[in-house]
Amino acid sequence: VTTAPRLDISLADRTAAVLTVGTELTTGMVADTNASEISAALTAASLEVVRTSSVPDDVDAVSVAIDSLAADAALLVVTGGLGPTDDDLTREGASRALGLALVRDDAVARRLEALLGVHREEEARRRLMRQAEVLETATVLPAVRGSAPGMVAPTERGALVLLPGPPHEMRPLLAHVVAAVEIPGPSPRVLSCAGITESDALAVARRALTPHAQIRLTMLAAPGGVRVVLFADPGSEEALESAAADVAAALGDACYATDGSSLAEVVLRAAADRGASLGLAESCTGGLVAAELTAVPGASAVFKGSVVAYADALKRDVLGVDEAVLAEHGAVSEAVALEMAQGALTVTGATHALAITGVAGPGGGSEEKPVGTVWFAVAGEGGESTLGRSIPGDRGLVRTRATSTGLHLLFRMLGVAHDGA
Ligand code: ATP
Ligand code: MG
Repeated sequence: VTTAPRLDISLADRTAAVLTVGTELTTGMVADTNASEISAALTAASLEVVRTSSVPDDVDAVSVAIDSLAADAALLVVTGGLGPTDDDLTREGASRALGLALVRDDAVARRLEALLGVHREEEARRRLMRQAEVLETATVLPAVRGSAPGMVAPTERGALVLLPGPPHEMRPLLAHVVAAVEIPGPSPRVLSCAGITESDALAVARRALTPHAQIRLTMLAAPGGVRVVLFADPGSEEALESAAADVAAALGDACYATDGSSLAEVVLRAAADRGASLGLAESCTGGLVAAELTAVPGASAVFKGSVVAYADALKRDVLGVDEAVLAEHGAVSEAVALEMAQGALTVTGATHALAITGVAGPGGGSEEKPVGTVWFAVAGEGGESTLGRSIPGDRGLVRTRATSTGLHLLFRMLGVAHDGA
């Protein structure tokens, strides 16, 4: 077992770049998931990704790209081409770009020697040992999975990080690097929102920021939610604080968290705070809301359970939805959603319940109820309310968005009832 070294990557500014190396990527044989995964992780860590690039397994291309990207960004993260085979040339490319020699790292060499036994060919053994060659000034990140170690080397502007290409080998090393990054200035404030479009959130945030000229704004949209990110320069901690409070107030209950919590976490916390318990009746989401809630440790303190009532017969026999209401309005309707929520209260014994019924598609739509039509209802102490939505997207997106819309409705019910209490 090798322990990860203590890392301290202090950067002068928050710019970052990502380079993925591999002919399999530039030919489209393998989807470049590392680029998006790394960009997302860096963005989440408050860095600003200013460039991403991919090059084939070619030492000139690698070296030119590293040279240029390391000049453009304080942090450059490179993946791929660190393996043992002859087409793995990232070490050599980095060495050339930074003018740093490759030297044998004894600790890595010892770990690799223990793996030599898997190869019968002398040439394969020699190749494996290439992975012990590291940039002379680099801190080595021992492989958590696989054999290729990562490296962190200083550059003129900041740091170069080399990580192995296979995503499951790259991921643990990336997490270690991201945790070690330090950037100047106050951390950006992230306001997590649901139940509002990206454009509306942007308009509301811009208006609220009118008196805060020095604050910069970025929007991060994902299925089921929007994050409003506010940045400020070093020394503007208080200005950022007050701007974030103003924007959060303007967004109202569309903003459910300012501390990075997920919607499910916030719902569970709101319920726990007011001594409530939660039950669900899910049709088109098939248990996704329950999965979100139960993914949070400690959910059992609040969450009773979900009835996944897909067939009309179950809506009727288990949840007690009136046969006549089903016949008159159809399973995807406001009236049925409401009866499902009431049924969930009875079946689960919870104080508050959410019901979701909709047409996820691709089939099953009609002119009156096209694919994406979803009805939500919440019921319990504090009353009941319903919401009809027409959600764009394919089956997967409709289900994901319905899940977050439902959770947000619960959040609002718990919050509103709480304020009134
Ligand atoms: P090793 O050779 O030790 O496995 P390596 O660092 O040399 O590691 P590569 O040879 O570049 O890694 O890539 C190995 C495999 O990892 C690729 O064939 C591909 O399946 C996957 N991979 C590499 N880069 C990426 C990427 N950017 N996105 C997704 N998968 C990748
Ligand atoms: Mg490769």
